[in-house]
Amino acid sequence: MTEINLQKEDDKETIGIALIGAKGRMGQSLLPAIEAEKQFSIVCGVEKNAEGELSTKHGSLPVSASLKEKQYAVKAAIDFSSPEATLFYMQEASGEIPIWIIGTTGFSAEQEAAIADFAKDRVIVKAGNFSVGINVLLHLLEEAMPMLGLGYDLEITETHHKHKVDSPSGTAAMLLAKAENIRKKLGEKAEAVYGRHGVRRKRQLGEIGMHSLRGGSVIGQHAAMLLGEDDKIVLEHTAFSRRAFSSGVIAALYFALQRLAEKKPGLYAMSDVLALRLSRQHPPGIGA
Ligand code: NAD
Repeated sequence: MTEINLQKEDDKETIGIALIGAKGRMGQSLLPAIEAEKQFSIVCGVEKNAEGELSTKHGSLPVSASLKEKQYAVKAAIDFSSPEATLFYMQEASGEIPIWIIGTTGFSAEQEAAIADFAKDRVIVKAGNFSVGINVLLHLLEEAMPMLGLGYDLEITETHHKHKVDSPSGTAAMLLAKAENIRKKLGEKAEAVYGRHGVRRKRQLGEIGMHSLRGGSVIGQHAAMLLGEDDKIVLEHTAFSRRAFSSGVIAALYFALQRLAEKKPGLYAMSDVLALRLSRQHPPGIGA
């Protein structure tokens, strides 16, 4: 696995970052968050249309459509782009970039398998949602479902801005996977039902309803509704700002550096990042 070579900046050593999807909503939100960290500096903004510039602490950087020129200076790639772009740039970097933080969602099963393969000699932290709040919500669902048992039906809803192309969201898929796993452990049935258009039958035992809403500028809202005969419990998370994701990305970067130093490549999740923080008895809030 490639080792980290630090760059000198004002007598301080920094780790060069490539920001893939630099001009997108998440890219633009991540830029100031990364630049605020002394240990990191953006050396390369990557976009499919190599136009415009990125304003960084080194001054303005041109946006490139390729990682090739800069890959030797880049030690970590942060990717919030599209599934095709993620796979393309991982191949283009051909092992030169040891750390990948992947926030892109909507991968096919084949693309997921390719990323798992890349993780054999890289540290990859991949999450459908980097916000600490959503990861706490996943944990709460895991606690609540066995306590409530089969008497409660589960419906998962997600709402996002009108520009989002994939549905259901990666986070809704994470909630579903978690719920299916819990039901399996409890020896119960689990069957995802996507919307109910044209379905003319009563709700079946073990169904998990999945519903996507799109509109306006909603950054991200997810709810797991547990509906019983006499009451309901709603576990809900709403992101007010994309900073909810960027602080998780920064925590993931520090985590990945530690894994790289320990020579422990692999495909990691936000639950690993948070477990590390808890084991160090950090408060569960944000900040590395
Ligand atoms: P966006 O459309 O605003 O930005 C995506 C950027 O990637 C655009 O600037 C686009 O030009 C660029 N891009 C797309 N294809 C490319 C390619 N082939 N080569 C180079 N650049 C390419 O979208 P966004 O809201 O910033 O979200 C980006 C991704 O991140 C989506 O998959 C979204 O679901 C996901 N997301 C994940 C989290 C999380 O916490 N994991 C949070 C928010 C969004």
